[in-house]
Order: sequence, then structure tokens, then C-alpha cells
Amino acid sequence: MQIYRSGLLRFADDHSALYEEDGLLAVGPDAQGRQLVQAAGAWHALAPEYAQWPVVHWSGRIIAPGFIDMHMHFPQTDVIGSPADGLLPWLENYTFPHESRFADPAYAAGVAIVFLDELLRNGVTTALTFATSHPASVDALMNEAQARGLRLIAGKVLQDRHSPDGVRDETRQSLLDTEALIGRWHGKDRLGYAITPRFAPSCTEAQLRGAGELAARYPDVWVQSHVAENKDEIRWARELFPAARSYLAVYDDFGLMRERAVYAHCIHFDDADRALMRDTGAVAAVSPTSNLFLGSGFFDYAGADRVGFRYGLASDVGGGTSFSPFHTMLAAYYVGREGQTKPGLSLSPQALWWQHTAGAAQALGLTGVIGNLQPGCEADFVVLDPGATPLLARKTAHAANLDELLFALIVLGDDRVIERTVISQAK
Ligand SMILES: [Zn+2]
Repeated sequence: MQIYRSGLLRFADDHSALYEEDGLLAVGPDAQGRQLVQAAGAWHALAPEYAQWPVVHWSGRIIAPGFIDMHMHFPQTDVIGSPADGLLPWLENYTFPHESRFADPAYAAGVAIVFLDELLRNGVTTALTFATSHPASVDALMNEAQARGLRLIAGKVLQDRHSPDGVRDETRQSLLDTEALIGRWHGKDRLGYAITPRFAPSCTEAQLRGAGELAARYPDVWVQSHVAENKDEIRWARELFPAARSYLAVYDDFGLMRERAVYAHCIHFDDADRALMRDTGAVAAVSPTSNLFLGSGFFDYAGADRVGFRYGLASDVGGGTSFSPFHTMLAAYYVGREGQTKPGLSLSPQALWWQHTAGAAQALGLTGVIGNLQPGCEADFVVLDPGATPLLARKTAHAANLDELLFALIVLGDDRVIERTVISQAK
């Protein structure tokens, strides 16, 4: 057993944050040797019970759940910050040419190292990420994540039409490759697989149908795609699938909406779309830095809450502009201002933080596994330095309550706040 003494942030079942200024986190192995949280709470209350174990004392620091990024593209690590006039030109001019390089396994392996280094430097302990259409790109990332003991979910992109040479795959082979990758990686150590149609316009009906059949045959495998990001994209999807009620409904028509199905963006929805999300158990990966950068629009938080479908936060690197969960939470706060009808904060700091930790875990079907530091959770956590920069030190020193402390970190924080990232099963 290892005992940590520090400030301690975690979440209650009602999504509110619990904070101990002087906290105790006990981490120890279960019967299978997995490092789990054994106890979490106030130091004075728990210390007598754990007195025989060694203590690491991080004075003036805060232990918090590792962040979960619900939507990323690991091959776009080097595409961040590429200027383009909206989604479709950005794909054509930057993303597809870059992703074609991942046919080379050595190149893919090199980027996988950089990508995972960058996640951990920013305090992200689990990501749901696209690879490219090349199966070797999945192997490269999974091998590296497995060596680091990470909980990570990824999938080979399916795109058998409207895609240039070098990234376009072949319908039948793409489905065989997907099933082989599920067998190779899903449930291995802490890894999970996601069936990954890029977006409906890039997939033939046969490919979407095959993806839906796999989604039915492997119900605990994730599904990930994009929807309703950009108005030109929506117009194109409607032309290609005229029989569908909406762009989102295309996925439902092919059996791709269910629990563990994660759709990035979900911006331009009507209430029938929102109800479809709710009724199927599909969830949204809200990607505010990407939506602001590409001018795609604003996720409608009020609409999502009114109808009642689940969502969590995501960077959408490389359409997104930062690996940092602090930047994503701040951008979500800006987005929440759009169309706001009630006075007050757009989103509370506790709600923003929850959406990037325990809320993201809930959306992924991993409540009680990751995203929190309650007993039984896997011990993935970050150690935050609330004095990482001079201004942040002043702001956090004067914080009168937890909301002020969390808001200072969200607004002023970045990778400098992440003093260390601890993974449950480090090598
Ligand atoms: Zn994306």
C-alpha cells in the first residue's frame, strides 16, 4: 500500500466536487495486482487507520483524477494549428496528406511516442482516439500504450470513399481488418477498441452496414465518429443519404448508435436528434477548441440538458488547438456563453472539471473505473501545482472557496500546472 498526503479533489455521485485541503489517498493492489484506490478522504480521519504504510507528502499540491479526453486523432499531432477555411478544406489540404504517411509503421510508432508523451505531460490519462485507415497505425499506438500501462481506446479509421489515395481503404478488407484488430487489442491489459467510421460522407453504405454489424456482434467495443460539425458537411451528408431523417439518423439507420457510441461535435442538432442520442445511449464528445478554431459552431449545452443526453469534453487534436484539459475547459466555458438564457456562469468550474474526468468516464461507460478517485477506481491521477506560475500562485492563494480555486486553474492553467502524472499500472 502507498499513502499520498496532499490536497485531494474527487467527485460525488451527484457530480459535485469533493475537496480536502489536507487529504489522504491510499493506493494498493487488488487480487489481480491492479493498483486501485483503497481509501480517499480527510487526512485526520483516515491517517490512524493507514499509519503502518509509507507516506509520500506533496505539500501545497493537489491530487486530482487524471483527465479523460473523449475525442482525439493521434495521427494529427503534427496537424495542430494548420490554417484552413473550415472543416472540408482542412481535411483535404492538411489532414489527409499527413495521415497518408502512417502507412509506414515506423513513422506511426514515432508519432505514437510523441502523442502519448504529450497526453501525460498534460495530465490526460485516458484518451479515445482515432488512428488512421492503416491497421499498422493502431498497432503502433496500442503497443506503446500497453508498454506504459495506459487505459486507452483507439480504432482504425474506416473511409472507403470520398478520400484520396493513400488514406482510402477497401470495403471488405477494412471490415476484416477491424475485426482482427478487435481480437488483437480489445480487453488486452487496459486497452479498448473503437469501431471508427471517419464520418458518414467518407463511408459507403456497405461499409457503414458492416461497421454496424460489428457493433452488434461486439457490444462492449466502442464506436466513434463525427456528426453535425459543420454546415457544408451536413449538406453533403444529406445529399448522400437522402432517405435518412437527419445526418445523425444515418448512423442509427446502420446500427451505429448504442451505449459506448461516441459522436464528436453534435453541434447542429434538432430536438429529434437530441432525443435519438438520449434514447440510444449514444454520447457526445464536446470539442470546443476545435469548434472555435474551425468556425464550426457552438455546442448547445442547454439543449443537451433539456432533452437529457450525455456528453463529456474532448480536445479533438489536431482540429483542436491544445492537448491541455485546462484550455479545453476554458473554451467550453466560452461556448456555454453562446445562447445562454439564464443569468450567471455559463458552466460552473465543478461542472467543467467533471465533464473532463468523472463525467467523461460515465459517458464512456467507465464509471467507477477511471475519472474519479473513489475507492475501487484505478489509480490514474495528476499532481497539480496551484502555484505553477506567478499569477496563478497569487490567484489560488486568495481563492475563498473551491469554485474560485478551480476557476483560477481552468482560466490560467496549462501543462505547467501538471507537476506529475501517475498511472495505475506503470511499467
Ligand atoms: Zn475529430
